[in-house]
Amino acid sequence: MSNPLAVALRAGRFVHVVELVASRLRREAQVLDVAGRLAGLPEVVAGSITSYAGGAIGHDPIRVGTAARARGLAPNIHLTCVSQDRQGLRKILEDLHALGIENVFALSGDYPQGSDPGQPPPVFDLDSVQLVRMIADMRRAGMSFHISVAVSPFKYVEADCVYQYLKLEKKIAAGADLAITQVGWDARKFLELKRYLDQRGLRTPVLGNVYVLGKRPAERMAGGQPPGCWVSPALLAAVREESAARDGGRRARLERAARTVAVLRGLGYAGAYIGGTHDAEEVDGIVRRGLELAPRWEELAAELSYGAPDGFYLYAETSGSGRGAPAPSSTASTTITGLGGDRGPAARPASGSRAALPRVLDALGRLVPVDRDTLARRGLTSVFRWVDRRPGVAHALERAELLVKRPLFGCQACGSCVLGHLEYVCPQTCPKQMRNGPCGGAALGRCEVLDRPCIWVGVYERARATGRVDDLRGYIPPPDRSLQGTSSWINYFLERDSRPAR
Ligand code: SF4
Repeated sequence: MSNPLAVALRAGRFVHVVELVASRLRREAQVLDVAGRLAGLPEVVAGSITSYAGGAIGHDPIRVGTAARARGLAPNIHLTCVSQDRQGLRKILEDLHALGIENVFALSGDYPQGSDPGQPPPVFDLDSVQLVRMIADMRRAGMSFHISVAVSPFKYVEADCVYQYLKLEKKIAAGADLAITQVGWDARKFLELKRYLDQRGLRTPVLGNVYVLGKRPAERMAGGQPPGCWVSPALLAAVREESAARDGGRRARLERAARTVAVLRGLGYAGAYIGGTHDAEEVDGIVRRGLELAPRWEELAAELSYGAPDGFYLYAETSGSGRGAPAPSSTASTTITGLGGDRGPAARPASGSRAALPRVLDALGRLVPVDRDTLARRGLTSVFRWVDRRPGVAHALERAELLVKRPLFGCQACGSCVLGHLEYVCPQTCPKQMRNGPCGGAALGRCEVLDRPCIWVGVYERARATGRVDDLRGYIPPPDRSLQGTSSWINYFLERDSRPAR
């Protein structure tokens, strides 16, 4: 059975994918009715069926997706890491394969609403990069999957923004076929993502998010809800003004969506990911108007400039003309017709200072190298093998390790230590226990779940200060949960733990 999404992308056609939110607030029959109508639009190649949207359980996306397909719309099933261990995720993928559903949107997922941070955290056994890798492994074993992943260029702090791109590279290396952006209304950021991928020589197609923004969602997003979605004060004011019109702002919001589609066409995106509407007629109107406006994309891009004043942009902006080739470095200038103005500075100077402890540990690592076959490694391996044969001693060592590492790093005795790969920041202190970079929910360097800085800002800033940002592109496997509560030192020397390939 052919997959219209994959076929259209391969053919280089500009595609439209429509998000269908299968939340409890909407009857399943309504979602399916829309799916049937969308199936009648030749430009719409798939319906993207959400799971756990906004951190709340909705209808079963597999059931909704199967029914949507029966109505003629190819489903793209959202698969999140929320409250699923790897066996559960594998089972879902096997079910999708058995049903002949290829398109999977692999996501970390929003933190469950109402979770009490004082209670045991919800399960996030894998992060989105590890999930992509699992799906790609299953694909290699003969199951046909087409993998979409998320990325947000709409991050206005350097660490948040650059880490989004680094993580996207990891997802692509792991096997992603398609990237889809988070919501945002900033053409300069849309361009930034494209330029970054071009500069890195990555040809993975990208769909830009086109959200039909009404007053209520704009007000929620202005307050940072759902996590990762953000509406600037200027855009909120514009939407509020539009909503005073006799039609409640409908014409204006559809026009903004169509203009965004035109801009995405001009910027060379592979397509548009349309959300915020469950009205097939509206989608049809956006598609048609987007095509009609395409010749004016540069002028429209100049209007689509609702970023954060003084926010971070990876590439400097200068006046002039021509889209030009991607700049060779983050501080190089880029010249873009239509994205006028000087809002937002260029890449900022290096920031972040390296704390003393990581420096000491780095120096110790150089002095006594144990990451390869050295005398020190052989000696310590013998010692830890001896300890491992004596459960009482091994337990005492595990307690001693925790005694040292908990106050220093917030260690939770996962047994597969990757501190040395993450600038001595423990990934278990991330509420979602990500190991390959931040989720999309971080905003202005703050965590989506807890009122504190995102731990990945610390990782990035330490790496930046020592010129090791490139090292953050390395894949970090999920921990072996059976090692929880054991000594990572023993596991390391006896090569039992899961950590990046040596
Ligand atoms: S990665 Fe694991 S072993 Fe290392 S500090 Fe964090 S919880 Fe402890």
